[in-house]
Amino acid sequence: MTMGTRQAHLEAKIDTLKQELLTLGDLRPGTLSEQYNVCGKAGCACKADPPRKHGPYYQVSFTWQGRSHTQFVRREHVATTRQQLRTYERLRALVEAWIAAGLALSALRFGTAPVRPRVRRAAVRRAAKRAHAQ
Ligand SMILES: [Zn+2]
Repeated sequence: MTMGTRQAHLEAKIDTLKQELLTLGDLRPGTLSEQYNVCGKAGCACKADPPRKHGPYYQVSFTWQGRSHTQFVRREHVATTRQQLRTYERLRALVEAWIAAGLALSALRFGTAPVRPRVRRAAVRRAAKRAHAQ
């Protein structure tokens, strides 16, 4: 690939990434988890043997602006929340891909040494495949 072709390829890739970014719906960062609780009521099934704990209760944990947060999620909002979490992961994948293409393009334009990615290409492809399957 000539330098001009490589540059055009990277520019086209960035354009494609920008287009996909525009299609993203609602998103939020975090990890969804299920909790089961024991209450304080005497003789409740949650303290039986075997115990039947209350729940599941759902919560999302995430770090934002350097602070960690945990929020409860109502059962009827779990499916939507899962979708929002997937969309956030897709956003991060697209932004990472844009940064990688931006670095490569900048190195080509300025004739400087390219920055080597830390992750192996196979791992990146697998992650992209997973994000695409969602
Ligand atoms: Zn109980």
